[in-house]
Amino acid sequence: MDVYGLLGNPVGHSLSPPMHEAGYEKLDIDARYVTFEPPVERGADAVESAAMLGVSGLNVTIPFKQDVLDAVEPDDTAARIGAVNTIDFSTDPPTGHNTDAAGVVRALEHHGVSLDGRAVLVGAGGAGRAVAFALAGEGMAVDIANRTVEKAVDLAADVTESVVDGSASGHALDELSDLLADADVLVNATSVGMEEDRSAVPRDGLHADLAVLDAVYSPIETRLLRDAADAGARTVDGAWMLLYQGVEAFERWTGHRAPVAAMNDALRSSLET
Ligand code: NAP
Repeated sequence: MDVYGLLGNPVGHSLSPPMHEAGYEKLDIDARYVTFEPPVERGADAVESAAMLGVSGLNVTIPFKQDVLDAVEPDDTAARIGAVNTIDFSTDPPTGHNTDAAGVVRALEHHGVSLDGRAVLVGAGGAGRAVAFALAGEGMAVDIANRTVEKAVDLAADVTESVVDGSASGHALDELSDLLADADVLVNATSVGMEEDRSAVPRDGLHADLAVLDAVYSPIETRLLRDAADAGARTVDGAWMLLYQGVEAFERWTGHRAPVAAMNDALRSSLET
């Protein structure tokens, strides 16, 4: 039996175990997916222990996504983003990947959103970095707005330096309405709206030509998504990004095409409980 898992602290209410185990069951794969919660200062040590114990793969979440960089061989995407959320132990040293980047692209593509033109990204934390590299990597011009403007400007410089087709620029949150006027895609990657009825995006900037993805998935229908729907925009909830980052990890670990519908059903059922 293969053992996969999630490394984080806390990991108590993670949606990943039911989502991945639904995939193993559907494909008749002999595997389990469990959670590991080491002390916050021991993330890199936990990766070494997992390798020693024969764990096949780990997802990584807060607060360890940066800490584990030293314990793995990061691929180019993870190294540029500066965060690892998926570890593959099939090699020595294990390799580190960032499937949040592919997750946002696949979530938008699933909904028929074309990834050309202009994107506005709100947030420049861990998720924001993954989204910025992903959308610019698809060739989009990405305007990044963040509460701490310097982080948006620094991220834009990192992106512009490393992507071939796309580009990025950094902005303050009060520029959002202007930035959105000729945008095609909006992604919220701040934690605003998580377990609260607030949005980081002013309603007057939203319009019917936008596709809006909110990385926040608790609640599933955030204030931003309600405002976007009211403005006639297409909406994509955060569970789609969560699903596809998991699908990417599943496919890397098992070598099988993921049973996306079964994993999505399990994820949506868990979100309702
Ligand atoms: P993080 O690294 O802590 O970054 C938090 C971001 O939110 C920063 O840009 C921060 O701005 C901004 N922010 C926080 N409070 C704010 C406020 N009151 N007003 C304006 N901006 C505020 O967190 P993260 O890991 O990027 O996660 C961000 C969100 O994405 C979380 O809700 C997380 O659950 C979600 N997420 C979802 C997925 C998915 O698969 N759907 C994957 C990853 C993360 P400053 O830089 O100014 O502090």
